[in-house]
Amino acid sequence: MNNKVALITGANKGIGFEVARQLAAKGFSILLGARDRERGEAAAARIPGVTFLPLEVTSHESVAAAAQQIEQTHGHLDVLVNNAGIGDNTDGLPGVANLDAVRRTFETNFFGALIVAQVMLPLLRKSPAARIVNVSSTLGSLTFQSDPDNPFASFRSIGYSGSKAALNMLTVNLAAELRDTPAKINSACPGYVATDINNNSGPRTVEQGAAIIVHLATLDENGPTGGFFDDNGSIAW
Ligand code: NAP
Repeated sequence: MNNKVALITGANKGIGFEVARQLAAKGFSILLGARDRERGEAAAARIPGVTFLPLEVTSHESVAAAAQQIEQTHGHLDVLVNNAGIGDNTDGLPGVANLDAVRRTFETNFFGALIVAQVMLPLLRKSPAARIVNVSSTLGSLTFQSDPDNPFASFRSIGYSGSKAALNMLTVNLAAELRDTPAKINSACPGYVATDINNNSGPRTVEQGAAIIVHLATLDENGPTGGFFDDNGSIAW
């Protein structure tokens, strides 16, 4: 054990589960966040020493209860991975997207991450070297979405891309807010990974997708803050 405590939201499957597995292998005490008790407990049981933490990211009450549990058991938090995210089949171009779907997507992908970051901040401030990783997407890059030649430009979902662009703004603003502390806050894009969010259509594995997230969660004191990265380095906002 390295005595560091890491919370991963939406970690009962997909990329979040793999991040939990890789950080556990590095000796972190893992709090595996999941909104469904049965799914969360089953997932936690698959990684030795990992603890399930009930966490519905859109509920302030649920996040506050999780923070209270962390306070009582650990007294601080070293790593927060804001991984929980959704897509919606009825999301789409701005002219036709289902507005309820867009709102739902923002509730989880942006407001959920903001709530968790805000509520966990006092615990993160108690860490000597807090790391926050917001799991974003190149689909949230304004630069890529503005370039008709970009391979991802044909994928347009205002709710998903808009919520990830907003999440990137959370990264930038939180990094500015914590500039005078040892904390480092970054956005990561895992690439196009085969998980339930895309009906397992992506060419990349969860192991590959988790790598950049784990890297940013374990940055040393010389690492960047307020940036947006994938395996190849910095991504244009
Ligand atoms: P996934 O397998 O569908 O996993 C999503 C996870 O988020 C699940 O554990 C899900 O829990 C959880 N979740 C959803 N809403 C939640 C809520 N309100 N509260 C708590 N947990 C919630 O998809 P994934 O690909 O691993 O996605 C992980 C992250 O990577 C997401 O932020 C996604 O946008 C991002 N991402 C993925 C790709 C890709 O190609 N896969 C690319 C770029 C970015 P349930 O099981 O209870 O639904």
